[in-house]
Amino acid sequence: MESLKELYKIGKGPSSSHTMGPERAARDFSRLYPRAARFKVTLYGSLAYTGRGHLTDKVILATLAPKPCGIVFDTEKQDLPHPNMMKFEGFDEHGLRLGKKKYYSIGGGNIRAEDEPETRPEDVYPFANFEEILRYAKEKNCTLDRIVYDFEGEEIKDFLLYVWHTMQSAIWRGIDTEGLLPGELKVVRKAKTLFETVPEHEEPEALEKRHLCAFAFATSEENASGGTIVTAPTCGASGVLPAALFYLSRKHGFSEEKVVAALAVAGLIGITVKQNASVSGAEAGCQAEIGTATAMAAGAVCRLFDASADEIEYAAEIALEHQLGLTCDPIGGYVQIPCIERNAIASQRALSAAALARILKGTRKISFDLIVKTMYETGKDLNARYRETSEGGLAAYYKVS
Ligand code: SF4
Repeated sequence: MESLKELYKIGKGPSSSHTMGPERAARDFSRLYPRAARFKVTLYGSLAYTGRGHLTDKVILATLAPKPCGIVFDTEKQDLPHPNMMKFEGFDEHGLRLGKKKYYSIGGGNIRAEDEPETRPEDVYPFANFEEILRYAKEKNCTLDRIVYDFEGEEIKDFLLYVWHTMQSAIWRGIDTEGLLPGELKVVRKAKTLFETVPEHEEPEALEKRHLCAFAFATSEENASGGTIVTAPTCGASGVLPAALFYLSRKHGFSEEKVVAALAVAGLIGITVKQNASVSGAEAGCQAEIGTATAMAAGAVCRLFDASADEIEYAAEIALEHQLGLTCDPIGGYVQIPCIERNAIASQRALSAAALARILKGTRKISFDLIVKTMYETGKDLNARYRETSEGGLAAYYKVS
């Protein structure tokens, strides 16, 4: 399994596969052809269907600037080797093509070039699945976060602390900003209103949920407006884990060390899904993004309360199991509806899953690995309309005026 650094990526939203990946590809291509006077980029598959709403064109233009670039959205070409494909072409000042290269945005901000062998980041963990992680923890009688520190080195704590600070900054920015999100949907930012508006006769429980949701909205709205966030595991699902950690840290005053441990545990859950299935909505629907984020947050919450490895696994399993079949249907291709609200609901689910796991431990029959496999198979069976093409579901029925 790869490093947690491959999972938690810090960058600009709104989509790890639609902005961070294309940004990387643009940087790579412009490095290959420094003599190019202008570029042409053709987007295929999900990038063509939802690229405008995901700001794919804007991030490519900004990365290649000041050189001009034409963007083509090709929704005709089918049978693609990967659902997120882009072709870059570079031309000299006389219009002579200097070269071309195809890239696939394979999720989580990672890319793969067409003519290059599929390379995976170096494995730092000798585990194939979560069962092996648990077995190791049992043999060594250690916590799951200790496994992360042992295999990645103690310096991973600094990285995770940086991740936590970035997550908090995104929440504070989001809570502090009002107005409309970019795009045609004219979606109003709601985090600040949610945080500050106290309804009459508000029960303490309702207040807690309101704050938790406000924090999830804050990150998701920052993501939707191209702000800097942390993929957890993706941009679209970046609000769930920070909301749960931020809300509980404020409530219980957890130390940064504790939050770092929780991020380490959440990371192990995330890379398990990434390695054995997918965290890409274009590949396996929203269950792969929000489902994984909920599982990561549920595991992290358990770690905050010093739950056992078994309870952590159970919480992650519950969280993912009940998101199975969740479709990806962002209206207009914007990572706004249903994405933002979905992050808020998922943060509540994460807390519920953690609570349930702690009480029902020892009764379960389904392992986390089994649910990961089920999620992936379900994702492959999902009609393409429900895999980030904005062709089905809410995206098909809601008409953008
Ligand atoms: S619906 Fe889910 S998977 Fe699709 S873009 Fe929104 S958050 Fe991501």
